[in-house]
Amino acid sequence: MVGEPKSEAELKKLFPAPRSIDPCLCGSRKRAGQCCLKETGQLVKSPSETKPPAGPTKLVTEKCYAGELNDCDGDSPTKEHYISAAVLELMGDKIDLGGAPWKKDDGPLSISALTSRILCKRHNNVLSGLDSEAARLFNALIGFHKGQTKGRTLFSGEDIERWMLKTLAGIVASGTAARGGERVKANPSREYLEILFGEKTMPLEWGLHYFDYLPSEERPKSQLRIRPEIREDHGRIIGVTIAMVGCQLRLNMGRITNLTDRAVIHRPRALVLADEALLELSWQDSTKTTGVVLSKSPPP
Ligand SMILES: [Zn+2]
Ligand SMILES: [Zn+2]
Repeated sequence: MVGEPKSEAELKKLFPAPRSIDPCLCGSRKRAGQCCLKETGQLVKSPSETKPPAGPTKLVTEKCYAGELNDCDGDSPTKEHYISAAVLELMGDKIDLGGAPWKKDDGPLSISALTSRILCKRHNNVLSGLDSEAARLFNALIGFHKGQTKGRTLFSGEDIERWMLKTLAGIVASGTAARGGERVKANPSREYLEILFGEKTMPLEWGLHYFDYLPSEERPKSQLRIRPEIREDHGRIIGVTIAMVGCQLRLNMGRITNLTDRAVIHRPRALVLADEALLELSWQDSTKTTGVVLSKSPPP
């Protein structure tokens, strides 16, 4: 549930910032003072670099969905999980990809089914930082429900956001998405590719939105549920909703216009897990001050 945002002072008391010589909270294994801790006392995690090095190669790999950027390695694409294997492993081996058009029933999918040749190695490799950031976040959320996640950790909001974009791109490029019962197979637009591969930043009003926990009747059997959102009328790919352990995050590739009555927070600054843990999301535009308080279990 979305609770009352805690005040800055309350959060500081519950989850004090690391000292300069302490290990950083971002998973880098560096000292905080040499990593994300700024002189102002703020923690800021830089987004990972997703622009392939020393490009453009002016090569296009056939079947690489980022081919339009003319920066492929030219080799044939390798078979990859298009939803990060590291994330899928945390979720157990089943995932709910509702509406997958070739499926006869509505049951969960096994993760080994979710591979496709859709990116060249060069483009695939630069996205690995996004995968590990998403895996860290999901690990913390799963751990919270088991009573194992404690204290303060730091994540790059932009990396989580672009991981969602990568997931959306993979689902659409591999033909896993559906619209009106028909399979949709499409390349992400040039603009989406430029955002994913570090040539552009996500426009400020787009991006990650936190939604409330799923209502119990909609809660999936598997821990991860992914719903690409494709406009019925003209097929534009507009976003994806990813529910993990019942907690819903939505990536909006555009300004959100039809807010539902459920609480929605754009680019939350933190997920506060009861009084036990603070999952801090760092944004380069640090004007955001809204946190989201999650209770231990989803509301009934
Ligand atoms: Zn750090
Ligand atoms: Zn490529």
